[in-house]
Amino acid sequence: MTNDQPKTERQSIDSVQRFDELPLDESILAAIVRAEYEHPTPVQAGLIPYALRGGDVVGQAQTGTGKTAAFVIPLLDRVARMPRQRNPQGLILVPTRELAVQVRGEVVKLSHGQRVSCAALYGGKPLRGQIDKLERGVDIVVGTPGRVLDHIGRGTLRLNGLNVVVLDEADRMLDIGFRPDIEKILRRCPRERQTLLLSATVPPPIQRLARRYMQEATELNFCDTTVSADTIEQFYFTVDAERKFDLLDRLLKRESPQQAIVFCRTKRGTEKVYRRLSSRRKDVDCIHGDMQQRARDRVMAKFRERKLTILVATDVVGRGIDVSTVSHIINYDLPQFCDDYVHRVGRTGRMGREGVAYSFVTPEEGNELTRIEMRINRLLERQEIEGFEAVASAVKPEDTEEPAAEKKPAPKPGRRPPKRYRRAL
Ligand code: AMP
Repeated sequence: MTNDQPKTERQSIDSVQRFDELPLDESILAAIVRAEYEHPTPVQAGLIPYALRGGDVVGQAQTGTGKTAAFVIPLLDRVARMPRQRNPQGLILVPTRELAVQVRGEVVKLSHGQRVSCAALYGGKPLRGQIDKLERGVDIVVGTPGRVLDHIGRGTLRLNGLNVVVLDEADRMLDIGFRPDIEKILRRCPRERQTLLLSATVPPPIQRLARRYMQEATELNFCDTTVSADTIEQFYFTVDAERKFDLLDRLLKRESPQQAIVFCRTKRGTEKVYRRLSSRRKDVDCIHGDMQQRARDRVMAKFRERKLTILVATDVVGRGIDVSTVSHIINYDLPQFCDDYVHRVGRTGRMGREGVAYSFVTPEEGNELTRIEMRINRLLERQEIEGFEAVASAVKPEDTEEPAAEKKPAPKPGRRPPKRYRRAL
């Protein structure tokens, strides 16, 4: 372990253009072709060569950029070159169950034709099945920190054969309180190992984690300062809280999205919006942390198979959703944290497809909108739906019985970042 600052590099463009330029095992190259990945994405082109050299890497990258394959490919290459053993060689820690399932899917896809077995360990599923699988021997484990620690405590997961540890969406794992579990797990991993840390942001707690548990990590930054500005259009509506649902209804009718995720802040709010929507249309479902894992898996499968058009979701479960056909993100409630805005909006416009994001902003939320705009370094454009009065102040004075002078105009959301921030942008 070292206290050295990580070496920071912004990955240059002279990195590889084709997968077969990388010194990868033939079986992996074949699986990449089969997965129809023609060219490495920038994150893959930048990260894979470093990871193949065996050093520790802190990669700043958002979802939707191909970051999963960027760590799965070098991990599989390592597994292919090492003698087979009983205990796992790779451990991938992720913040949510959905992401665990998704990452396992990527491992399965990219290990086609290789004798690699992968187990996903996450809560909400009986331990028994997971224990049976571990006993039969697995090469790669993908799991949420709590459940992984549980298996370590029971002696059903042994870490002594680990060569590679991946911390995926590390910032999110710390946000939701997994730090102590992660540290406990890392302390039990062999010292001689490679650690890859992926995170959309690298705030000081992540830097501390990297300093404490990684060795001379190279830091690679693949994040644009803007959120996929080229492919995602972003708008907002000013709307009274009690008119949000009508606005949603109108917006969905106007847009007829291919697939949309409607983000709400709370589980109750998610349920409420879902119930109201489902009384009008059949192609809608919801997903949040209070639901049984099986129900969540079922909803996600239906959404992936495009049997659902609209998914109402909270941030924790919505964040990792990787469905490339999502055309619309609707922030029914603004997220509590600006970074969640980035993650929500990143659910659309994936792999270069076009996407659009609409945020509902109440007149009281002007400052929150401004904070988001500062975070993404971009002003959102205001929209209105013709003939729909989204805020009370839009009611013309002559339509009311009250004298115009007594009506208080609704405060307008702050449209531009305050001057002192504008200079810094
Ligand atoms: P991720 O950022 O890992 O969530 O990946 C987003 C999506 O991109 C996933 O559906 C991947 O299967 C897909 N993907 C990853 N790498 C490539 C690639 N090189 N070419 C095309 N699709 C890719």
